[in-house]
Amino acid sequence: MIFAPTIALNDGARIPQLGLGVYKATDEQAENAVSVAVDLGYRHVDTATLYANETGVGRAVAASSVPRSELFITTKVFQDRHGYDEARRSFDESLVRLGLEYVDLFLIHWPAPAQNLYVETWRALEKIQADGLARSIGVSNFHPHHLERLANETSVVPSINQVELHPWLPQRETRAYDDAHGIVTEAWSPLARGRVLDNPVLDELAAKYGKTPAQIVIRWHLELGNVVIPKSVTPSRIAENIDVFDFALDESDLARIATLETGERTGRDPDFNG
Ligand code: NDP
Repeated sequence: MIFAPTIALNDGARIPQLGLGVYKATDEQAENAVSVAVDLGYRHVDTATLYANETGVGRAVAASSVPRSELFITTKVFQDRHGYDEARRSFDESLVRLGLEYVDLFLIHWPAPAQNLYVETWRALEKIQADGLARSIGVSNFHPHHLERLANETSVVPSINQVELHPWLPQRETRAYDDAHGIVTEAWSPLARGRVLDNPVLDELAAKYGKTPAQIVIRWHLELGNVVIPKSVTPSRIAENIDVFDFALDESDLARIATLETGERTGRDPDFNG
């Protein structure tokens, strides 16, 4: 088995630096993928209400022989449920679907600034954490100016900011803001949905270390200090993606990967999504 190291969060909890993403997996696929992953040593799973597979994730957790306390489960509230009461209801429904008594991390999925409800939604997350139902709370897709609003108008600093981040989009500004404020940056679509992998620089580094391009990219995330949650429903890839703790990239490798930056997103800019 291969275990990922953990990173300290600003609330005293720890998060495994590598986890399994399950976006676009059905309940059945997510159940299978999580079961395979936990058997390989994964201890961290990232789901969301939007993914409509919390039930499958919960089934795999229930069936696993790994104690609940050793697993780190994240879910999220989507922007169709923003607002104090609505976010709490959405959270309660997620817990029921997951079949859990608490989650390790609960995130606001998108700030959806046009609705102007993310501050109120954050207050619901503060209460959920105070009630002991989410050990840690955080945000996703927050630009520094969204985080600044939370800092000015609420009391708890998010533990995590989960953003689109891969070699095309290294998110230097957001990572610097997060670092300066004790917020851990978590990379979604860490492989740019698989699209970043077909590249001669990554092929060359893969040959240098006897690894695959996906393993090189995942290792790059780890060197940057990101939490990283590659998604796969393919058992061989789930195994490949956690087999990244027996080598390290050096400064010259990181400089080569930096040349892949294009600024291209696979998803929406958070300022223009809802
Ligand atoms: P990823 O960058 O993780 O890429 C996933 C794709 O790459 C899948 O098609 C997968 O195929 C393929 N893949 C995985 N491993 C390998 C490998 N070793 N070699 C070749 N191909 C591979 O994209 P995601 O968008 O899924 O992002 C990861 C996770 O981040 C999501 O699952 C979700 O949990 C989270 N996320 C959060 C968002 C947010 O707004 N907060 C938005 C989007 C994602 P296959 O499964 O067929 O093996």
